[in-house]
Amino acid sequence: MTNSTGKAHRKRKPRANHAFQDRKRLDSPLGQVEVRLPASLAAQHEILAQEVADAAGWLLDELGDFRVVRKNLDARRRPVKAVWTVDVAQQGHVLPAIEFPIWNAAPLSSEAPEVIIVGAGPAGLFAALECLEQGLRPIIIERGAAVRQRRRDLVRITQDHQVNPDSNYCFGEGGAGTYSDGKLYTRSHKRGDIRSALECLVAFGADPAILVDAHPHIGTNKLPGIIQSMREAIVNAGGEVHFGCRMVDVLETAGSVKAIQWLELSTGRTVERACEAMVLATGHSARDVFLLMHGKGWKLEAKPFAIGVRVEHPQSLIDQVQYHGEERGDWLPPASYKLVCQVDGRGVHSFCMCPGGIIAPCATEQEQIVTNGWSPSKRDNPYANSGMVVQIDHEIWEQAGFHGPLGGLDFQRMVEQACWAAAGKTQRAPAQRLLDFLAGDEGRVSRDLPVCSYVPGVVSVNLRELLPASIAKPLVEGLRAFGRKMPEFLHPDAILVAPESRTSSPVRIPRDSDTLEHPEVSGFYPCGEGGGYAGGILSAALDGTRVVQKLALKHSLKQV
Ligand SMILES: Cc1cc2nc3c(=O)[nH]c(=O)nc-3n(C[C@H](O)[C@H](O)[C@H](O)COP(=O)(O)OP(=O)(O)OC[C@H]3O[C@@H](n4cnc5c(N)ncnc54)[C@H](O)[C@@H]3O)c2cc1C
Repeated sequence: MTNSTGKAHRKRKPRANHAFQDRKRLDSPLGQVEVRLPASLAAQHEILAQEVADAAGWLLDELGDFRVVRKNLDARRRPVKAVWTVDVAQQGHVLPAIEFPIWNAAPLSSEAPEVIIVGAGPAGLFAALECLEQGLRPIIIERGAAVRQRRRDLVRITQDHQVNPDSNYCFGEGGAGTYSDGKLYTRSHKRGDIRSALECLVAFGADPAILVDAHPHIGTNKLPGIIQSMREAIVNAGGEVHFGCRMVDVLETAGSVKAIQWLELSTGRTVERACEAMVLATGHSARDVFLLMHGKGWKLEAKPFAIGVRVEHPQSLIDQVQYHGEERGDWLPPASYKLVCQVDGRGVHSFCMCPGGIIAPCATEQEQIVTNGWSPSKRDNPYANSGMVVQIDHEIWEQAGFHGPLGGLDFQRMVEQACWAAAGKTQRAPAQRLLDFLAGDEGRVSRDLPVCSYVPGVVSVNLRELLPASIAKPLVEGLRAFGRKMPEFLHPDAILVAPESRTSSPVRIPRDSDTLEHPEVSGFYPCGEGGGYAGGILSAALDGTRVVQKLALKHSLKQV
């Protein structure tokens, strides 16, 4: 942002208030300041310029270029404040130009060693890009379709209730994140360079605003294009991407990976390809991959995760609550929330909140219901949805009769299948008004259901009876607690849709903390969310990069 038109700004004397007098003058002609002002005013250039000049301790006339480099909101009270970090330059000086990243990997030499990457989600794609950086040839094997074709498979779910087990909301080019809200937050600050991952997304077409927003997101409409550009760059540099190819076996000899086998879905042909290094980035929903490894006797561990429901409210209600009744205007984004509490020592929390979003049918097999949420880049749908989930662990699935490393997965499958059966064995999902779910000791079936964004449709069911008590009970208490914090949350038109069950992987594939290889199979690198090493787009991408950096190190040592 630049106040290039000197004329537009009134010459204003320093304000005779203490805040200004106390403010230290920036001595250097280039610097950085923080401004904090009502968000509605921050959207007005002249007012912002004055605020920036004040923050620098300069007269408005002294202010030259300025550029917002970090945008945060303080919505704790009305009016909602913009808290922005701004780079500033005095008149006569210019801010250094921002170099927007471009992707420019040199083509691979014909000698480049191959790395097999199974899965083209964020972990697999970033692993492939890192291979190119390291002079390794990525060979991506992806069971699902390329983004365009994949869209047709999504329509078949919503319109015909037909789930293609290889191409759906979780499987296909770009992985589970392709048709998502594209939130790019991660709690991890250790797993690599977040900034460079964001810059990489910008290089492939994401809005540079993601480098500035404190809570960046991309949106379902923008993600496919970005992912397609990544794939094109990978192929142009000499990598390979094989869609419609489901990995069906990994061959090893003497504790080292030796070859991969995949099924070419269009021909039914099984293809075998030798390999010395394989990155397994198959995500949290590839149950066949966990079963394959379990069948081979390779070490796996059950991992705690969370199950619950998706709740949906009118977005306008969430805006009113979060912005304290202030008009949202076009200067505030659709509001979000984050809720968390403990019920008898068990965590209950909101998950993957999608402001202005849609509840998506995310089953990966025909006989199950799975929900999640997505939003377009503008987040301009009239609904706000979020997962509301209960932390579950071995105590819960063992009580239900499931044991061993796949105990959590079996419990997850049981819940998803029960929801499918209860709602009529289509992709319609069982649902209930929030207030009916909370009613009395047992809940009550809703007489009717409010309009809901879940396109395949919803069926009125008492979720208190349908969900295992180990989930339903803490969920009831958790939702009541959220209602005490935010009374409007218990709105008569709020609806619960079940189940939200793919919050993270129910299985961990162990890996050596130093080499990142599976402890029993050298050259085999579990990666991303499926291995239990990520919990979202950004952390999966960072893990893909990290794994290949380790793998390349080993490879270069071997060459010496
Ligand atoms: C609807 C939805 C919304 C979401 N919203 C967000 C969000 O806003 N922000 C966020 O951070 N996260 C979000 N997530 C979660 C996020 O998408 C995942 O955390 C992330 O994609 C994990 O990346 P990954 O690469 O580890 O695995 P995945 O993205 O799951 O990719 C795994 C890939 O492996 C392929 N595969 C699986 N098995 C095989 C096989 N046998 N052979 C070949 N290929 C195989 C799959 O087809 C898939 O493409 C959302 C998920 C969904 C479903």
